[in-house]
Amino acid sequence: MLHKILVIGGGVGGTMTANHLVTKLYPEIRSGKVQITLLSNSPWHYYKPAFMYVAFTKFFRDELRRPQRGLLRPEIDFQIEEVEQFDFQGNKVKCKSGHTFGYDHLIISTGCVPTPERIEGLKEAGDHFYQYAPARQLAEKLRTIEKGRILITVTFPKTPNVPHQCGIAPMETTLMVDALLRKRGVRNKVEIVYTYPTVAQGVQCGLFLQSGVSEVLPAVFDQNGIKYNRGFTLERVDPGAKVAYSAEGKEENFDILMATPPIRAVKAVRESGISHAEDDEGWLPTDHESMKVLGLENVYVLGDTVDLPISKAGGSCHNQSPVVVNNVASEIRFGHTCDAYEGRVVAIAQMGLEEGMPLWYDYTHEVIPTPATKLGGMTRKGFNRGIYWAVARGLL
Ligand SMILES: Cc1cc2nc3c(=O)[nH]c(=O)nc-3n(C[C@H](O)[C@H](O)[C@H](O)COP(=O)(O)OP(=O)(O)OC[C@H]3O[C@@H](n4cnc5c(N)ncnc54)[C@H](O)[C@@H]3O)c2cc1C
Repeated sequence: MLHKILVIGGGVGGTMTANHLVTKLYPEIRSGKVQITLLSNSPWHYYKPAFMYVAFTKFFRDELRRPQRGLLRPEIDFQIEEVEQFDFQGNKVKCKSGHTFGYDHLIISTGCVPTPERIEGLKEAGDHFYQYAPARQLAEKLRTIEKGRILITVTFPKTPNVPHQCGIAPMETTLMVDALLRKRGVRNKVEIVYTYPTVAQGVQCGLFLQSGVSEVLPAVFDQNGIKYNRGFTLERVDPGAKVAYSAEGKEENFDILMATPPIRAVKAVRESGISHAEDDEGWLPTDHESMKVLGLENVYVLGDTVDLPISKAGGSCHNQSPVVVNNVASEIRFGHTCDAYEGRVVAIAQMGLEEGMPLWYDYTHEVIPTPATKLGGMTRKGFNRGIYWAVARGLL
């Protein structure tokens, strides 16, 4: 009997997982016993971390995207479809087009979306780099600011222990702003103020979501003349006065407000009825080891849609995807799962415009910060410009 595996989402999680599945289950696919279908609502695959570089005019649209079909192994049935409804009891999904797709195994990797409109005044007065168009808008401001104050804010999901997207991005971009303004010769006329919420994931009154990095950051910021304000949970923004107010009762004025805005899961996932996340955030309850959606034996989730206490990062997908693939293949072949995710995240942080810092952590080990180096910067550049596409293709 034909075993149907349905993957939803053509981002890094879905793409690499579909490709890895072909490699792992090649004999079954060749003999017609297994079929892999990937549905995505876009014909394009975006290398999302590059949006951050767009804000510094280092990347333009056509450099950071590829046609989705071209990244997939030919054995994968790829269809441009937007899933509107999950029917977990009936083992099928319903799409906007009216088409329905059945499955034996379902893998969800639909990411998350920034929602600045969920904080009063933030959409009107703030900027961010988590999508292409907002990053272009921010680029124009960073390219032209001559004097004033740049305020950085970070908003965490309300669901406990779920981090914002890409834990390191606010810190990376703060250092990039500093380097850019120095290059432009206006750094002495622009104040940079980095803020972090009181209750972040693993720390209280820190500057990063883990204590090790939180402890070394003040020295890095001091060295570059970047001010910082621990315990600033953005509550509302007054666009007219250009002032940001925090839940702790503090206020900060700004000329540019570079925010890490609230995020949540996509609509179809939020409306799937199985999330227990707070504030309609929609994170799917995920088994920390098997990567299955809790309570659903044949449904897996990875990437930004999970409710795991680890970074919403491509470097997480890279370590979750093989676990999902091994478990699906093992269930098909032997009737049980065989692999467990340890919470590993591997990435290279961009430190300023030229340097980089490799970092890795898991459920039990925090990041151990190391000095930023030019070699780290070159490795990051290599990943941005080439290695990423091999990773998405499932080659690395
Ligand atoms: C500015 C920025 C900087 C970052 N920096 C880093 C970094 O340095 N290192 C790192 O490791 N990670 C970084 N990340 C995070 C990384 O990009 C994400 O964690 C990763 O893309 C998540 O992969 P995903 O597959 O879960 O979701 P996505 O990559 O978001 O893919 C989701 C896919 O699902 C599709 N989709 C959505 N809804 C539907 C639907 N209803 N039906 C069908 N298809 C749907 C979308 O079109 C998309 O193809 C960064 C992200 C941003 C935005």
